[in-house]
Amino acid sequence: MATIFQRIIDKEIPANIVFEDDLCLAFHDVAPQAPTHVLVIPKKPLPNLAAAKADDQALLGHLLLVAKQIADQLGLSNGYRTVINCGKDGGQSVDHLHIHVLGGRALHWPPG
Ligand code: AMP
Repeated sequence: MATIFQRIIDKEIPANIVFEDDLCLAFHDVAPQAPTHVLVIPKKPLPNLAAAKADDQALLGHLLLVAKQIADQLGLSNGYRTVINCGKDGGQSVDHLHIHVLGGRALHWPPG
């Protein structure tokens, strides 16, 4: 069964998209944990970072550079955080690789 993110890629369900190219899509998180909370996802259906292979090197680099570009685009000049939750212990809830871009407030560390 298609994940919710695959359905967003396929435009079956709406999302507040901030960036799209041939390789990826970025959209606002539906339950933001910071004033700015965007998800960057590959169009390739990679379940998570653990499933990435050497072949995905360029794609993973591209996703990070898009995350940076979005942070610039959305004015996160004070800084921001990128997060990739992976698997059960990592708190991953959608089985499609995604980079969270969080900003607009001071973020605490360590995470819970
Ligand atoms: P994770 O817990 O790292 O797997 O993150 C999944 C994220 O997807 C959560 O922050 C959710 O709020 C977000 N999310 C789930 N469904 C949607 C949706 N339809 N549109 C936007 N974000 C979503």
